[in-house]
Formats: sequence, C-alpha cells, structure tokens
Amino acid sequence: MIEMQDVWKKYPNGTNALQGVSVQINKGEFVYVVGPSGAGKSTFIKLMYREERPSKGQIFVNGFNIERLRESKIPIMRRQIGVVFQDYKLLTKLNAYENVAFAMEVIEAPRKVIVRRVKEALELVGLADKWNKLPTQLSGGEQQRVAVARALVNKPTVIIADEPTGNLDPETSWGIMRLFEEINNRGTTIVMATHNREIVNTMKKRVLAIENGQIVRDEQRGVYGYED
Ligand code: ADP
Ligand code: ADP
Repeated sequence: MIEMQDVWKKYPNGTNALQGVSVQINKGEFVYVVGPSGAGKSTFIKLMYREERPSKGQIFVNGFNIERLRESKIPIMRRQIGVVFQDYKLLTKLNAYENVAFAMEVIEAPRKVIVRRVKEALELVGLADKWNKLPTQLSGGEQQRVAVARALVNKPTVIIADEPTGNLDPETSWGIMRLFEEINNRGTTIVMATHNREIVNTMKKRVLAIENGQIVRDEQRGVYGYED
C-alpha cells in the first residue's frame, strides 16, 4: 500500500537527505523508522504525505503514484493518510472537539457525520469528557491524543507519525503507544519514526533503520539497535 522505488531527495541547499530508498509497506503493518539524527527519517516520512517531493524515484500510496497526481486529487489522497507530529500541531484557539472536526470540515463532510465521527474519535482516545478544553488546558499526553483523534477521524488507511512521543514522559508515551497499537489492530497501517529505544524493543514490530539517507536494516520483529 506504500511503495518507494529508488527514491532520492536532495534539498535545494545540496543536502542529499535520501539516496536510493526502495521499500514496500503492506496494509495493516506497523513499522518503526529508526536511525541517528539527520539520517533522513523525517524526509522519508514527509515524502509519504507529499509534504516534500522526491528529486528522483516513484512513490505509491494505495496504488496511486503520488508524484503524478493532479492537484485536484491531492485532497483525496491526503484523506487516506493521517499524520501525527512530535509537537502535536493543534490549533490553539480551537477546543479538542473543534480541532478534530476541522480535519473533516476541510474535506467538506456533512455536519451530522462530523459530529458522530468526532465523538467516536475522542472516545477512542479517551478524551470524550474533555471535548471542550483548549490545548492549553490539556496535558502534553492529552494534546497528543487529540492529535491522534484528528489523524484518524477521516478513517485513513495509514497513520504516519514523526516522533509522536518525543515530548512525552515514558508513562504517557506508553499510553500513546497502546493507542497506536489499538488503531493498528483495527487494520490501519502505522509508520512511525522514533528515538524511543524501549518502545521499539518491547513492541517487536517491523523496524526500518535509515543511515545517511539509505535503508541499512529492515527486520520483522526488529530492535532499535542504537545506544542513544
Ligand atoms: P532525521 O529525521 O533522521 O533527523 P531529516 O530527514 O530531518 O533526518 O534530515 C536529513 C538530512 O537532510 C539532514 O542532513 C538535514 O539537515 C537535512 N534537511 C532536512 N530538511 C532540510 C531542508 N528543508 N533543507 C535542507 N536540508 C534539510
Ligand atoms: P466505513 O465507515 O466505510 O465502514 P471502516 O470503518 O471500515 O469504514 O474503516 C475504514 C478504514 O478506517 C479502515 O482502514 C479501518 O482500519 C480504519 N478505521 C476505522 N475505524 C477506525 C478506528 N476507530 N481507529 C483506527 N482506524 C479505524
């Protein structure tokens, strides 16, 4: 469902962030992306949701070559992908409900569907009773739960996360990981870049290691494999 074929990414300043990456990720997989800082993990993630464009190579999501998509089809493709960031990226003036609803409003979903799905999503992440809180009134873990609800409210086939536990303490991080595991158990593919060695080593999922812009390891039930 996600495939990269010989993907290269050179930034305008000349940095070669990815150098010939080929990988296939199947529906329902849970994949960790690990590697040292600056290795190319974020670039790899950003290419999947078309935040960045490759300098060379092909990227397929759900069978669509996302480099050949017409502009008008990009919103349809983005709806298939939920994204979660390290710093949550919630809209500060909107409450939890509104932040999640916003993701459906931009795709012009009908009002009734929005109300029902946002409630379901907030329930799934355990925040039904905090629907009217602003981000500043929520803890970091709760803010990340809102972000996860926003990522899954459009029922994406894949959720992509870049260091989603990077700002959270270990216990809160585990809460977020259990949530991702539950979402994955319901059939949604998860691709997550992380520096959290304990989580990767405990969960025993597929691990892709990137170093110097190349995939240097691809293991089922893999380990973190770095000291940091
Ligand atoms: P990681 O997520 O593994 O830390 P990144 O994908 O963020 O790695 O970065 C890979 C390389 O590309 C690094 O050398 C980084 O400095 C560089 N890089 C990332 N984003 C940009 C950018 N927008 N412009 C120029 N260089 C960038
Ligand atoms: P429909 O509303 O058409 O019945 P489904 O409920 O079958 O759609 O879900 C479509 C996609 O969204 C599937 O890939 C499924 O795994 C995912 N999905 C549905 N509900 C959830 C959920 N609560 N958490 C995570 N993923 C979900």
